[in-house]
Amino acid sequence: MKNIYFTPGPSALYPTVHGHIQEALEKDIFSISHRSEAFKQIYRNTVVSLRSLLNIPNDFFIFFLASATEAMERIIENCAADSSFHFVNGAFSKRFYTIANELKKNPQKVEVEFGNGFNFSNLTIPDKTELIGFTQNETSSGISTPLENIYEIKRHYPEKLVAVDIVSSIPFVDVDYSKIDCTFFSVQKGFGLPAGLGVLVVNRRCLDKSLALKKKNLNIGSYHNFLSIKEQGDKFQTVETPNVLAIYLLGKICEDLIEFGIEKVRKETQLKAGMLYKFFEQHKDFEPFVKEKTFRSQTVIVVNTTVDSEIVINKLRQNGFIVGTGYKEYKNGQIRVANFPSHRIDDVDKLLDCL
Ligand SMILES: *Cc1c(COP(=O)(O)O)cnc(C)c1O
Repeated sequence: MKNIYFTPGPSALYPTVHGHIQEALEKDIFSISHRSEAFKQIYRNTVVSLRSLLNIPNDFFIFFLASATEAMERIIENCAADSSFHFVNGAFSKRFYTIANELKKNPQKVEVEFGNGFNFSNLTIPDKTELIGFTQNETSSGISTPLENIYEIKRHYPEKLVAVDIVSSIPFVDVDYSKIDCTFFSVQKGFGLPAGLGVLVVNRRCLDKSLALKKKNLNIGSYHNFLSIKEQGDKFQTVETPNVLAIYLLGKICEDLIEFGIEKVRKETQLKAGMLYKFFEQHKDFEPFVKEKTFRSQTVIVVNTTVDSEIVINKLRQNGFIVGTGYKEYKNGQIRVANFPSHRIDDVDKLLDCL
């Protein structure tokens, strides 16, 4: 029996990935030079498909990195001289903040308890803040921050750069790029691809900031800084030898999702999330961890279990369903179920039957 991975990343592969890898082998993707015309074609194709799928405007630039964690570091290095501000409500938003600390950017934060959303009234962000970091979908707790709240912060502080982690909500989340400055994600979650590629989307203001920092002789990173990546990107190339296969596959999956229809992807995601939440609300042994419906993630469903969650996880595993454990101290009291485009309605039905 083949396992179905409902883990929040890496997760189930998108069903067409196998065929695309086969085709990549046949096309010698693994051997071509990253300075060749063939590579430039792949690069260009992936950028075009991503723009089209996610509605990314032409004045935003798309950068390929190693991971989403790298994107956090690059954003902090290139968008803040010495002051960032972070919305912290779980492990990944904390990571963003910690990286800023490690890079000595004197980060400030507003922090709420694990499993809670933010209260946006009565919130002040220090004047000197240059960069504001959000984790739109906290994969550790299943909390989603409404985009409207993020846009409102940007409206309030138009001079500050706003960076949004959309790793586990893309491609479900529909970002209005005119209301933020940069977003980032990696591909092993909602895109159903093997891990090993991060994507960072930045506007002109981020590039200007990076240039201003450089002119002040501040560190903006070594081989991967916004200016070096942009310079190569303009030639449909990367600074280093990249994960060519991953860039190729991302373009192919974007084409598949465009063909399937992004609106349909989003509708189905909501439908499956509805099925999952309803089931867990009604079952005596389970309870959705996030109480406030407006903060409930549609793509990562976190559930309290009355028994040790290891028992539930093992039982599911015996039946071919792999779900995530709770995060860190919640490891034994929760399960996490991913709801990505690669998860078919049918598979969700089967998972719930088994539960
Ligand atoms: C998984 C995840 C990350 C880290 O992604 P990597 O590709 O492992 O660097 C960052 N933020 C969120 C919200 C995530 O879910």
